[in-house]
Amino acid sequence: MSKVLRKPAEFRQACEDARAVRRRVGLVPTMGALHHGHFSLIDEAKSRADFIALTLFVNPLQFAPGEDLKRYPRTFESDLAGCRERGVDVVFAPEPGAMYSPEFQTEVSVKGISEPLEGGFRPSHFDGVTTVVTKLFNLAGPCVAMFGRKDYQQWKVLARMALDLDMPIEVVGCPIIREADGLALSSRNRYLSASDRKRALGIVSGLRRAFDAWEQGEREPDALRSLAEEPVRGAFDRLDYVAAVDPETLAAPSPSPCRILIAVAAHLGTTRLIDNVVLGEDTCP
Ligand code: AMP
Repeated sequence: MSKVLRKPAEFRQACEDARAVRRRVGLVPTMGALHHGHFSLIDEAKSRADFIALTLFVNPLQFAPGEDLKRYPRTFESDLAGCRERGVDVVFAPEPGAMYSPEFQTEVSVKGISEPLEGGFRPSHFDGVTTVVTKLFNLAGPCVAMFGRKDYQQWKVLARMALDLDMPIEVVGCPIIREADGLALSSRNRYLSASDRKRALGIVSGLRRAFDAWEQGEREPDALRSLAEEPVRGAFDRLDYVAAVDPETLAAPSPSPCRILIAVAAHLGTTRLIDNVVLGEDTCP
C-alpha cells in the first residue's frame, strides 16, 4: 500500500525510518502522468533497493515561460494506482508551495555538460532540474536514484552533480522504453493527434538509419548525424537539433569513436519530442 506524503518533512522522516531498519532507499523522481517508462524505473529500483520512494512533482522551475507547465498532464489517481500495483512504498507529491517558499532564492547549476543540446534550446531548464533534484536528494538522504536515458543529458548532468557535490547518492541511468513501433514513451505523447503520432515515427526512422549505418561500419560522426536528420526533417515541423556527440562529455566525438550518441529534439505543432540512441552500446531503437 503506497503511502501518500505531501510534506517534505514527512518524506524525509519516512526515508530515515526505512534506513533505520536497514532498508535501502530507491528513489524514482518523476513529474507524474506515469507510463511504462516510469514503471521500468520502479522495477529497476526494486532490483537495487527495498524501500521504494517515487516522487510526483511538476517542477515549475524547469519550465520556461511559454513552455507547457500549465497543460502538463496531471493524472494523480491513476499514477497512484500504478504505484500501488507495483509495490511503491511512498509517493511524495508536494504542492509547489511546499517545495518553494516565497523567500526561496537558491539555485544549483552544473556548467559544461548542461550547456550543449537541450541547454542550447532550454537555457534555464537544467538549473531547474538540478535545483529540484538536489532538494529531493537532500530529503531522501543516502539512496540509489533512477533516471531514464530517454532524458540522456539530464541523467549525465545529475550524475555529474552528485559526483561534484559529494552527494551520497548512486545515480543510475535506465534504458529507454519504447512502443512496439519504436516511439519512446513520453508523458508528452498524449498531446499528439493521430496524424502527428504517425509523423513522430520520423525520429525512430532517423535513429534506425544511423544505427544501421553504424552496424555496417560507418564511423564518421557527421555522416551518421546527416542520416538521422533527414527523416526527422521530413516529418517534423521544426527541428531543434540532431547531434552526434561523445556519450560521456556530450562534446564533439573523436574522429573514429567506439561509441557515439545520436540525440534528437524536434517539434510537431506545439509538442516537442526528444529521443536518442548510443551507437556501439544500445540495441536498435
Ligand atoms: P518525467 O516524468 O518525464 O520527468 O520522467 C521521469 C523519469 O522517467 C526521468 O528520469 C525520465 O528520463 C524517465 N523516463 C521517461 N520516459 C522514459 C522512457 N520512455 N523510458 C525510460 N525512462 C523514461
